[in-house]
Amino acid sequence: MSEPSFSASFRCSEGCDFRAALTEVVYRCPRCQGLLEVEHDVAALARRSPDEWKALFDQRFRRGAWPLGSGVWGKKEWVYPELALGNVVSMYEGGSPLLRLDGYARELGLDDVWLKECGVTHSGSFKDLGMTVLVSAVKEMRARGKPIRAVACASTGDTSAALASYCAAAGIPSVVLLPRGKISIAQLVQPISNGALVLELDTDFDGCMKVVQELSAAPDIYLANSMNSLRIEGQKTLSVELVQQLDWTVPDWIVIPGGNLGNASAVGRGFQLMMQLGLVDRLPRLVVAQAQKANPLYRAVAAAGGSPRAGLAVASIAAERTLASAIQIGAPVSARRALRALEALDGIVEQASEQELADAAARADRHGAYACPHTGVALAALEKLASRGVVRKGQRAVVISTAHGLKFSDFKVGYHEQRLGEVAARLGNPSMQVPATLGAVQDAIARRFPAAPGGAR
Ligand SMILES: *Cc1c(COP(=O)(O)O)cnc(C)c1O
Ligand SMILES: [Zn+2]
Repeated sequence: MSEPSFSASFRCSEGCDFRAALTEVVYRCPRCQGLLEVEHDVAALARRSPDEWKALFDQRFRRGAWPLGSGVWGKKEWVYPELALGNVVSMYEGGSPLLRLDGYARELGLDDVWLKECGVTHSGSFKDLGMTVLVSAVKEMRARGKPIRAVACASTGDTSAALASYCAAAGIPSVVLLPRGKISIAQLVQPISNGALVLELDTDFDGCMKVVQELSAAPDIYLANSMNSLRIEGQKTLSVELVQQLDWTVPDWIVIPGGNLGNASAVGRGFQLMMQLGLVDRLPRLVVAQAQKANPLYRAVAAAGGSPRAGLAVASIAAERTLASAIQIGAPVSARRALRALEALDGIVEQASEQELADAAARADRHGAYACPHTGVALAALEKLASRGVVRKGQRAVVISTAHGLKFSDFKVGYHEQRLGEVAARLGNPSMQVPATLGAVQDAIARRFPAAPGGAR
């Protein structure tokens, strides 16, 4: 079979005509300083029918020849078509569970709520989806003689974990800049274990971001933050994958937590490309949920009357400390991209207080989930929209879970032991200390689960 040839390149996302090859070291448009996006030859992609694409993606999903079983690389033609397969650096990312939360849905008065568990993956967060593309691109650049000494990022914890892991797998040096004392211990130990140069800075994420941008002005330090649009290309496969898992049907709502707002933009791009190529015939509505303590997008949209529009100015704020530490960001790099996605997907921006996010995570956990605080922000947004009657019974909602709950044990333990300061653990379930006797254990069981009247003894 003769393969159609597919191609992609960088293009200025602000509409000027700057273009560059994906093998160039460039993050912003040199003419207008706008962010770049990856532009695909959509006409070439459209020469394959929607059914052919679906069959191809289904055939590769989680099986077969390395690395095409990866959720990202199984869709390589839509991500980075010209990358040499030998330069792909994969940890078998994507293919994460999509599970139905029936009990939780019922508690909210809904009947069709799903959790896309992007944190059930190699480094424990959705960041793997983008990092596999970025590090593969670096491997390709180095193979072509680009003198890249190291890859660097600022991080609220998960980007650095993903970067360090993929770089270690590829044998490429990595440098991570972290806000000291503002990430979880699990997140800190990941890049340490993978051999990154781990630098803890006495500032917040926005402060780390400033330093890393200055650092990567040097051509041999490659910038791995999500202003780098290669990551967005990998993350957009999450939209394709979840539609694929729903037998190529589109949910009514996608609810996603937002910090730097790259992932919300990526989800929008994934749906828009599926629409352009005819794999779906409608778009879901997009809900971006922010922590109330770090809510620059929410504020901007609220000030403009509540409906997100492309081009709306998003003023930077000083983000306050939040349990949702991975989205404690006051100057979101991808705000303009996210607003374009929100406008295209008839979006809503919501926010969640510390109490709301902690309770929502605990509520979902009671129904079997194990939600990280950021997923808690998205769940809380869904709860608020359900109680206002915006999301209704009969509609299908997919909540994007961004990290594995196991990365945030302090948050979990703190909640159940009533140690989260301003948060009252309404759904707290602290363990009990009991004497090591049968009687004491039986008493504890009887108090918690009284025997049903007339039930078996
Ligand atoms: C990075 C991250 C986010 C935010 O994603 P953005 O693309 O920065 O909006 C949310 N949750 C977790 C767990 C993350 O690591
Ligand atoms: Zn430009």
